[in-house]
Parts: sequence; structure tokens; C-alpha cells
Amino acid sequence: MRLTVIGCAGSFPSADSPASCYLIEHDGHRILLDLGNGALGALQRHIDLTWPGALDAVILSHCHVDHCVDVASLYVQRHYAPTPSGALLRILGPSDARGRIAAIYGMNDPAMLDAEFSFEHLGSAHSIGPFAIDAVPAAHPVESYSIRVSAGGSSLVYSGDTGPTQSLVDVSAGADLALYEASFVGEGNPPDLHMSGADAGRIASAAQVRTLVLTHRVGWNDDAIVLREAAAHYDGAILLASAGQVIDL
Ligand SMILES: [Zn+2]
Repeated sequence: MRLTVIGCAGSFPSADSPASCYLIEHDGHRILLDLGNGALGALQRHIDLTWPGALDAVILSHCHVDHCVDVASLYVQRHYAPTPSGALLRILGPSDARGRIAAIYGMNDPAMLDAEFSFEHLGSAHSIGPFAIDAVPAAHPVESYSIRVSAGGSSLVYSGDTGPTQSLVDVSAGADLALYEASFVGEGNPPDLHMSGADAGRIASAAQVRTLVLTHRVGWNDDAIVLREAAAHYDGAILLASAGQVIDL
């Protein structure tokens, strides 16, 4: 399995990165985890969207704009392209994803999206080509999920946006890679919203994952502090996600 970080900026795009979007590839199949602000542009450095089989599915951890807004742009790319976009693209996400994407687009009727996408509720196990998907509820102000993707004998877990949860520990157990958000620094942060580097380190340690990748870091925080906080709680390899980064599992 190959992970390519398309965008990893926390909460809003940065000068160096779009907001959240991760391309997962295995055996000729491709899925996206989230499609936040600006990610559709950067994604085209890695895949040709005009090819009907470019993507098997898009999985949305939740429907805050920095995780889903470019699905509306993907609709435009597919619907108005001079060549047909082929089969409907699977969009797995929260129960209200279809309505929220339509609202972002400005559609009066969400059914317009059904010309390009087939929406599925993410809240359970799914199979997408060679990928086995498992999703557990996250602790965030809107319906949100943490997601485990397994294929070819390896696995990665994407936290999405979440406060620390036991379910993230459980779904991450023994994963090769933990792609965890680290929006906060220090202690005493608001509950059920985001994790700090320390939270990410504690959960990676409890779940005994092999590698921790810190993502969704917010521009006003110091990366060195986030990294140091995580390292205080986790002994394994820690990477800072960056746009364009490729990790083979
Ligand atoms: Zn969010």
C-alpha cells in the first residue's frame, strides 16, 4: 500500500499545503481519505482525473469544509468534462454528506449529485477493491469517523479530526502506520475536538503502531513542540506529514 499526502494543513490550507487529503494506492486501485480545500488541484499532480478509473472511492471522515469541500469541485470536473466520467464514484461519509456537499456547491436539489456520485454511510465495515475499510466514531462536534484501511497485508489508521478516544486505540491496534491529527499543543485543551502531539503519542503507544505520522498541524503552532510532545509518549518512529510526501507500507 502506498500513502501519498496530497494535503495535510490543519483546519485551513497553508502556503505549502492544501487542507486534508490522502491518496491511498494498492494494486492499481486508488482511494482518497478526505478532500479538503485546494486538494483537488494538488491531487492532479499524482493522478489523471480524466481517466474514468482514476479513483475507486472518496472516504470523508466528516463534513467540515477542510475535509470535504473539494468534493463539490470534483463534481464540476466530472460532470462538465468533455469526456464522460464513467461509473458513479463512491463517496463514503457521514449520513448527511450528500446534503452538505450540495449545500456547499449551492445546489437547490441534492439529487443533482447522483449523476456523478453514489453516497454510502461510512459508519461500518466496507470493501473497496483490495481495501478493507473499518470506521469507528470520532469525538468531534459533527458526525465524524476514524478510519482503518488494510490491503496487501499492511494497514494504516487515519484519525480524522477527533479528541482522544479508546475507539481510536482499538481500531489502531498493531497498525503499520498511524496518521494522527495533532492540532493542539500543551494540556488543558477543549474536550472532544482535536488531539495534541501528546495525545497522538499516547494513543500510538497504547495501540502499538509501528510508525506515527503527525498531520493536521495548524499553522500557528510550532512543529518542533508538537513533535517533542509526541515523542515524550511514543518510542517508535515519528514523521511530520508534508504535502507530496510518499510512504510505502
Ligand atoms: Zn473538523
